[in-house]
Amino acid sequence: MSERIIIKNGTVVTMNDVDDVIFGGTVVIEGDRITEVGLPGDITADEGGATVIDAADKAVLPGLVDLHYHTAIGKGWSDHLPLWEYLETCWYPIIRALNPEEAYWAALSSYSESIKCGVTTVNDMYRRLDGLAKAAEEIGIRAVLSNDVADAEHDLDTLEDNKTAYEQSHGTADGRIEVYIGIEWLPLASEGLLKEARALADDLKTGIHIHLNESLTEVENSKERFGRRPTEVAYDCGILFDRCIAAHCVWLSDTEIALMRETGTQVSHNPSSNAKLGNGIARVPEMLAAGLNVGLGHDAAECNNSRDLFEVMKFASLMHRASRVDPSLQQAPDVVRMATRNGSAALRHETGELTAGKKADVITIDLGNQMFTPLFPESKAHLYSHLVFAANGSAVNTTIVDGKILYRDREFTTIDEGKVLSEANVAFRHVLDRMVVPT
Ligand SMILES: [Zn+2]
Repeated sequence: MSERIIIKNGTVVTMNDVDDVIFGGTVVIEGDRITEVGLPGDITADEGGATVIDAADKAVLPGLVDLHYHTAIGKGWSDHLPLWEYLETCWYPIIRALNPEEAYWAALSSYSESIKCGVTTVNDMYRRLDGLAKAAEEIGIRAVLSNDVADAEHDLDTLEDNKTAYEQSHGTADGRIEVYIGIEWLPLASEGLLKEARALADDLKTGIHIHLNESLTEVENSKERFGRRPTEVAYDCGILFDRCIAAHCVWLSDTEIALMRETGTQVSHNPSSNAKLGNGIARVPEMLAAGLNVGLGHDAAECNNSRDLFEVMKFASLMHRASRVDPSLQQAPDVVRMATRNGSAALRHETGELTAGKKADVITIDLGNQMFTPLFPESKAHLYSHLVFAANGSAVNTTIVDGKILYRDREFTTIDEGKVLSEANVAFRHVLDRMVVPT
């Protein structure tokens, strides 16, 4: 018999089609699925034999989806540099030196911070996917993994590496782990590589994860090398389609937004990374007006430097309001939707909302906390405001993925957190010892 979890007395923020918030509500989980959501009188499940979580003074939400993610090993190292220089002298040398065991500890450390902050799904582009898959399987997070593929001369991953990772890990951990094709970005890719990437994705019936239009330097590089803008090149090479997650999309022209729309390409907006790296502010209002599906990502702890998606939600509202001098932009319920349903839809997952039949990725958040004080009883608007503008990830109390409790009352159930952090420190030092910085 599958395990049953009953979360009761909660403020249930369903993120369903009609945006129901149920005060004093119950969520029932059987195995890996949500089976009932409603007021106590509507619930038929028996508490006998169930794990019962009393969510009085707690909000119950679908787990957050971090739509653009890199496992990180070197947070805060050389991060005073501009993006291009940082990539060449720090990020690429580090990930070239990385071995699977170091990737494993780095992934466990990264995923643990995400789980603590209520993230249940990561769309993780990195290297040594065997190490990442092992970490995701053990800690219990839902992970879409992709390699860091570039042309051979850059000494990163190849499409063959990504195919091997797909064969080894796609569909493992009860389907929690998937493998996409990952393309680092256009400055390290030829048109031939881009076309082959799409062909491989079609062959494997999987998606593509790519950095696109992240910086002005990328746009200039594309115009010099290809004679047109990055999204135009991606379109011509077949990279854009409804299973492509395009990360950043900061510098999109109207034509490029139209190409995204035409192809149904999914966008990950990563406002805090874009701000830290001085890359600019994406044209999210125009993307939304064009009907694009936009989710949120933290990018990497190297360029953020936090994996807290609550922080990303706040940036995703404030940056646009500040730059457009318009406080009507990016209202709180829409931003929470980006971090849940939109990210899930981009990955074609059955998560992102608390509705019977969906996968059981659920978090609880402490409302008896200064961040949520004052809170007017049964006010949806007040609650949404606090979730986006007042809260941070430390308000997360419990994180459940695929019907399994990974983190309860702020304690991990699947890992020894102290050991993970100390091994991640060791892995960073070992990688630094071996990395070769180009002169
Ligand atoms: Zn990135």
